[in-house]
Amino acid sequence: KGSDGLFTVSLIEGDGIGPEISQSVKDIFTAAKAPIKWEPVDVTPMLRNGKTTIAQETIDSIERNKVALKGPLATPIGKGHVSLNLTLRRTFNLFANVRPCRSIAGYKTPYDNVDTVLIRENTEGEYSGIEHVVVDGVVQSIKLITREASERVLRFAFQYAENIGRLKVRAVHKATIMKMSDGLFLGTAKRVSKDYPSVEFDAELLDNTCLKIVTDPTPYNDKVLVMPNLYGDILSDMCAGLIGGLGLTPSGNIGDECSIFEAVHGSAPDIAGKALANPTALLLSSIMMLRHMELNDHAQRIETAIFDTLAEGKTLTGDLGGKSKTHEYADAIIRRL
Ligand code: NAD
Repeated sequence: KGSDGLFTVSLIEGDGIGPEISQSVKDIFTAAKAPIKWEPVDVTPMLRNGKTTIAQETIDSIERNKVALKGPLATPIGKGHVSLNLTLRRTFNLFANVRPCRSIAGYKTPYDNVDTVLIRENTEGEYSGIEHVVVDGVVQSIKLITREASERVLRFAFQYAENIGRLKVRAVHKATIMKMSDGLFLGTAKRVSKDYPSVEFDAELLDNTCLKIVTDPTPYNDKVLVMPNLYGDILSDMCAGLIGGLGLTPSGNIGDECSIFEAVHGSAPDIAGKALANPTALLLSSIMMLRHMELNDHAQRIETAIFDTLAEGKTLTGDLGGKSKTHEYADAIIRRL
């Protein structure tokens, strides 16, 4: 917090629709008098010693401010770059990805009472990036699970459950097949759960979770789900589908020191620069960010204006069946503040 009473947040506008949806966030925050000062940073990838990195100034900015908001980044396929998103996660050790999915009034989906919270281990599992050719035509990919990373994300999940008052944590796993790796995750979960007596703990097989959550999501409305990396990646998009897709889902990447909040969708190159993008996911990510910074009153006010605008249904972007431009939707939210 600066002497002007404002909190400085690093802002990565991102590629494609990133600058357009970031503009909406900035406009709405200004109108809401949210005490945030944006510090724009550049994350253009650079190759240093064969490794993808980002500028030192950017790293310094995020380390100084501790909190960043990030638009989508385009990942070039097959150009020898590690995904920038992965680079950011590794650089700042963002070990937990938090993905809440709540039904939005005014946008009809098969279920109107979805309210899931999913926490994904963000650093290892199948995404460790350890792959090699054994012989031509045979490739091996290593799923790495460590007690340390499992325990870190599990402790975070129990603490998060306590913080938000959802006193049930469920570990999602495939320890029946991945006996050692998921077995370690599950065993760690059982052990860690003993340290949180106020939180109920149980476990469920991933396939069973998928089947049950699309059949009836209601039983998941009082739980925090926690799981290894790949399962969390897939299941969190499935939950997003239950509430109407990636244009509506926020996320937070939490580390020991720094946290980066980001929309889940990509850079939407097909609609970039046309003022067609829906900024809701980035906006809801910025609300998560405000709550993380304990600016709850501002978060509540902006969130209510967003949900009311969506529920009214008069000023929606094309992906939600409306005809409004990005800034027209943002203006409608501003009028409600
Ligand atoms: P995408 O999410 O960019 O687009 C998928 C579809 O959803 C497109 O039709 C797009 O127009 C639509 N869409 C996405 N966000 C929208 C929004 N806010 N409003 C309205 N419509 C929206 O996925 P993609 O096409 O697979 O990926 C494009 C690029 O984004 C790739 O380079 C990919 O690597 C990158 N990407 C980045 C992130 C990230 O930074 N977190 C996540 C996913 C993909």
